[in-house]
Amino acid sequence: MDRTAVGTRLAAGTPKFPGAQYIAGELREGTAEEEFDVVDPADGSLVQRVRLASAEDVDAAVAAARQALPEWSGATPGARSEALSRLSALLAERAGDLAAVESAQTGKPIKLSTEFDVPGTVDNAAFFAGAARNLEGKAAGEYSGDHTSYVRREAVGVVGSIAPWNYPLQMAAWKILPAIAAGNTIVLKPAELTPLTSLMFAQACTDAGIPDGVVNIVTGAGRTAGEHLVSHPGVAMVSFTGSTGVGKRVAELATRTVKRTHLELGGKAPFVVFDDADLDAAVHGAVAASLINSGQDCTAATRAYVQRPLYDAFVAGVAELYGQVRLGNPYHPQTDLGPLVSHTQRDRVAGFVDRARAAGAVIVTGGEAPETGHDGTDLRPGAYYRPTLITGVGQDAEVVQSEIFGPVLVVLPFDSDDEGLRLANDTPYGLAASAWTRDVHRSLRATRDLQAGCVWINDHIPIISEMPHGGYKSSGYGKDMSQYSLDEYTQVKHVMYDTTAVVRKDWHRTIFGDR
Ligand code: NAD
Repeated sequence: MDRTAVGTRLAAGTPKFPGAQYIAGELREGTAEEEFDVVDPADGSLVQRVRLASAEDVDAAVAAARQALPEWSGATPGARSEALSRLSALLAERAGDLAAVESAQTGKPIKLSTEFDVPGTVDNAAFFAGAARNLEGKAAGEYSGDHTSYVRREAVGVVGSIAPWNYPLQMAAWKILPAIAAGNTIVLKPAELTPLTSLMFAQACTDAGIPDGVVNIVTGAGRTAGEHLVSHPGVAMVSFTGSTGVGKRVAELATRTVKRTHLELGGKAPFVVFDDADLDAAVHGAVAASLINSGQDCTAATRAYVQRPLYDAFVAGVAELYGQVRLGNPYHPQTDLGPLVSHTQRDRVAGFVDRARAAGAVIVTGGEAPETGHDGTDLRPGAYYRPTLITGVGQDAEVVQSEIFGPVLVVLPFDSDDEGLRLANDTPYGLAASAWTRDVHRSLRATRDLQAGCVWINDHIPIISEMPHGGYKSSGYGKDMSQYSLDEYTQVKHVMYDTTAVVRKDWHRTIFGDR
């Protein structure tokens, strides 16, 4: 695969990471028996072979995080804020390298890494630099009449975080930044497929002056290193982003040691188009929101419900635009859609489509792997899949109910507003949803009735550092980003001072003596 389009250090073939564990401020080799190949899904070539983390590596990372905790949690908010500001500036300086490595390990188009993943991460760091100084609580008060009460908002301790492969850099940022802004220290386990930009992020933390041990990365397998981290008695809180199935297992393990949990899980976002919507805007929105990151986005539009009068035109419009999307080499600056993250993921997506086809669904367009890219690249060695539009299925079809995590959109018609909203809510998930209408009453009703942690009106996908991201229902609980995430990563202590200096206090009579 020609990576020279972005002229990176990767393209020059320089060695990148002398180890995939970042513990106490330095990169180390893992000590597990197993090695893991980080592969470029654009052509199957090796990006980096890493030795995975053993249980001992996880222990070492937790020990480093525990050692760093008193100093970091005791630092002034101003000092933490300054370090995060320096981090934001360093990440911006390293934007080119970060984007290139992110594209190499995930296959995402360089356009997306450069214009979305990296700037989003830089902005998040800048946001948490400010938020670190704005931890709030209730005002002190004489609530009992005899005492002054106030709250202290304190760090929880060592956070054990586990992240997925779809947005590795942003997930590292979403996990690490609020945790350390609030004074915690952290051990993050990225997905084995995509550890490299998490390591670069941790290195940038050290270079920004964040003390050794505050941010640690262990690159290990979920069943071993992941479970060891989640069960570790030295970890106070678990923050997990990934599939609902693994999230349940993580919650189960964390419960055994009474850890606080924060779970950001799967999604199956509905995209509801009412009959007064701007059809062209809805069609463009559906194409972008279903294909972003090759559909490997927990909030991607996956089920479009279109009110009957617009249904045929919507399907025709999306099919036409899907045909214009430029599929190819992710390092080509004009590529819109790259491969999926791995051949395994591509085959999983193809399996969903093949089963739908066999059950009688209409594959309006796509439903196969492409051979040649828009730039003439041979795509056969890569994990590519064409944008796929499916109709002719019922609400209970597998492709409507299950998370596919690929460039696949299913469209279903509806008649009444009640029906459209009911169908939109009819899956176990509740991460995100959108409604398309020009009617203020319909839009207000949709924002009230759609059961999801985020509802967009006349758009679908944008996120912003100031606003919370997190699920309802089986999409989990807790919030990433925004001031709300600081609630996850802090605990509130009630402090109560006697203000009377009375020896025999009135309430003592409940234990001894009379009034
Ligand atoms: P996954 O659940 O397979 O893996 C996520 C992480 O968990 C990986 O680091 C993996 O190594 C680890 N893991 C696996 N088994 C484990 C175990 N038994 N114990 C501890 N850790 C374990 O998910 P994925 O395939 O990497 O990512 C895709 C999923 O992530 C999708 O379901 C997507 O919706 C979800 N996701 C959700 C959000 C959100 O904000 N809600 C964001 C991004 C991705």
